[in-house]
Amino acid sequence: MQATTWSVPKKNTALDISRELSTTTFSMLVAQLASFINREGVVFTMHRAINKTRQLAGFLQRFQSTLVVAEHNNDKLTPITLSAITAANKLGGEVSCLVAGTDCAKVVAELSKVLGVNKVLVAQHDAFKGALPEELTPIILATQQQFKFTHICAGASAFGKNLLPRVAAKLDVAPISDIIEIQSPDTFVRTIYAGNALSTVKCNESVKVFTVRGTAFEPAASEGGSATSEDVASSSAVGVSEWLEQNLSKSDRPELAGAKVVVSGGRGLKSGENFQLLYDLAETMNAAVGASRAAVDAGYVPNDMQVGQTGKIVAPELYIAVGISGAIQHLAGMKDSKTIVAINKDPEAPIFLVSDFGLVADLFKAVPEMTAALRK
Ligand SMILES: Cc1cc2nc3c(=O)[nH]c(=O)nc-3n(C[C@H](O)[C@H](O)[C@H](O)COP(=O)(O)OP(=O)(O)OC[C@H]3O[C@@H](n4cnc5c(N)ncnc54)[C@H](O)[C@@H]3O)c2cc1C
Repeated sequence: MQATTWSVPKKNTALDISRELSTTTFSMLVAQLASFINREGVVFTMHRAINKTRQLAGFLQRFQSTLVVAEHNNDKLTPITLSAITAANKLGGEVSCLVAGTDCAKVVAELSKVLGVNKVLVAQHDAFKGALPEELTPIILATQQQFKFTHICAGASAFGKNLLPRVAAKLDVAPISDIIEIQSPDTFVRTIYAGNALSTVKCNESVKVFTVRGTAFEPAASEGGSATSEDVASSSAVGVSEWLEQNLSKSDRPELAGAKVVVSGGRGLKSGENFQLLYDLAETMNAAVGASRAAVDAGYVPNDMQVGQTGKIVAPELYIAVGISGAIQHLAGMKDSKTIVAINKDPEAPIFLVSDFGLVADLFKAVPEMTAALRK
């Protein structure tokens, strides 16, 4: 259940309060009490009550405990997990990470050094091959049963989006997807209407289950931590689905979601062959290449290159949009880029409204010229 109302705890020990009321809600409660006392003229008591509340807020925050479900390929951690760890640390309290895989010792070692991780929980089983949600959900539920986390989160990647709604359903709580800010342990901000509005969601669930937008939280430092690791018993395979294989497109270019520079092409490129112009330009800057949905739908490039509302969300240092008009669904995936450059022959193209530098030109002339200049 997500709502703007809150419930008074049934029991009033400090521990029960921390489980049932957020720190802000509790602060409001005491502030209201303080203002009542003030009306009676006891100002001193009010100050004392507020100070006590602040102390209590810090005290209660220490009772938060978050499980971050790590995304990895048994060899390396996926960068979005580091962003989820940063988000988890904003909640206060202990942060544990669950590494479920087939042979994941390297990932456990990598995670143990990440700053802000207190404990790494390890579950190894053949059934975890391919990270199928049907197989991972029971181990997350068993871990939750054992440790009683107040929050469970993962990155808002295909992995997290596939897994956490299932976990939430099994826990009978409403998940919150793709958060971009944490205001307090029970209040989260997420985008709606393709990023045109922000929604602040207050969650009254006993366990908050959410996914984290990678571009909204800096990755946690990969050195400096010293987490302990602990095995958690993995149950037998559920067996309702089976992982067969994955065929990933191979590329020497940086991965789109984590690249510092992205060059994206749209329908203006006119064909898949013409994307070679962008590959050449990208090579001079060690950039990843993305695309608009129109370019993907036209079959110019595969859909794992799509940037936007229904594609990947990127926020590189530099985003170069070539032959892209700037539809809101495309902007939803790249408008948080630090510097945006647009090349378009139409001076009225909406992409120029969000770009820091715009070049009104024919891309077939401008892009080769840029590539040649950068190669010098
Ligand atoms: C539910 C939904 C989800 C969507 N999700 C996404 C998404 O995730 N990502 C996404 O990108 N879109 C998405 N879309 C589609 C989106 O609405 C647009 O249709 C799409 O972004 C347009 O792509 P485009 O800019 O490449 O094409 P167009 O809008 O056709 O723009 C092509 C641009 O190229 C310029 N151009 C043409 N020739 C040249 C040249 N020689 N030199 C320079 N410039 C040139 C034109 O001036 C024009 O501005 C979604 C739509 C819906 C309804």
